[in-house]
Amino acid sequence: MKENLEKYKKDIQNMSAKEIIQWAFDSFGEKNVILASSLSVEDQVLTDMVCELAESPRVLTLDTGRLFQESYDVIQMSMDKYKISYEISFPEAKEVLDLVTEKGPNLFYNSVMDRKECCYVRKVRPLKKSLEKASLWITGIRKDQSVTRENLSHVEWDNHFGLYKINPILDWSEKDVWKYIKKNKVPYSSLQDKGFLSIGCAPCTRAVEKGQDIRAGRWWWEAPESKECGLHVSA
Ligand code: SF4
Repeated sequence: MKENLEKYKKDIQNMSAKEIIQWAFDSFGEKNVILASSLSVEDQVLTDMVCELAESPRVLTLDTGRLFQESYDVIQMSMDKYKISYEISFPEAKEVLDLVTEKGPNLFYNSVMDRKECCYVRKVRPLKKSLEKASLWITGIRKDQSVTRENLSHVEWDNHFGLYKINPILDWSEKDVWKYIKKNKVPYSSLQDKGFLSIGCAPCTRAVEKGQDIRAGRWWWEAPESKECGLHVSA
């Protein structure tokens, strides 16, 4: 499968975000394509697009057990607007139990290693399990979100999870995202209006000051280079 990557890159090089998603449905089949949504504004744009383009869109989200109430509100609002059911993925109870028993409920503040272990158990493993039932996943990654995302392409082979991955709004600016959200009345987290510009789990996210990098509120105690949860590892 991986050998088609260069062809796919050429196929979609001049396509818009919606055209890239349509290409994915046509090339891989709707039931084999899944949007992995973190409920961010970017993923809400993509939820709106896949719900417009697919008859039975597959939208996955990870319930880490540490989400904000406002994130559950986004799920509910989207279910109501788009008449969809989410594929909600939970971590294995035993793994979470072992982790918090050994290291405590707030282990993520101990070290980068402990934080990554928490992300691995609560996010990476559940995502890996869910992606086994897909051939391609859609992400809302944008290049200007962080230094770790500057060299990505619109289509990639995801070595880590063993399937193709498309990033349809890779080149969009934050302004483009908000323009789409407002124009199409797309539901989004009320935390966005309180300065939470990139939202993950509650204990690992805080509001940012005006002018600060949008991901500055994620794992704010760590250096920028380590700020990924393991979901987006380059091939
Ligand atoms: S973001 Fe924080 S609470 Fe959520 S999985 Fe990662 S370390 Fe754990």
